[in-house]
Amino acid sequence: MSDAGPFLSSPTGDSSRLRPGTVVQVSGIYRVHHYAHRMPHNVSIKAGLRLPRCRRCGDAVRFAPLITAEPIGSDVDFQEELRSAV
Ligand SMILES: [Zn+2]
Repeated sequence: MSDAGPFLSSPTGDSSRLRPGTVVQVSGIYRVHHYAHRMPHNVSIKAGLRLPRCRRCGDAVRFAPLITAEPIGSDVDFQEELRSAV
């Protein structure tokens, strides 16, 4: 990989990024920004999860909401359909 880019920037300062230990409020796809050992990547996270520390960069990892999405079963327009389909 030759286009690694400046991804070694400081993990502090961006308030939209969540730290390990934060409880996720909205389910969705989050972008994970590691510190100095890995390119950013995406994970899906459910609301209520306490964000874990990274095995390698520990508390320096940050999670940024990329696409937030509710579980379809908690959407008012689909609840009845899903229930009656079972
Ligand atoms: Zn890491």
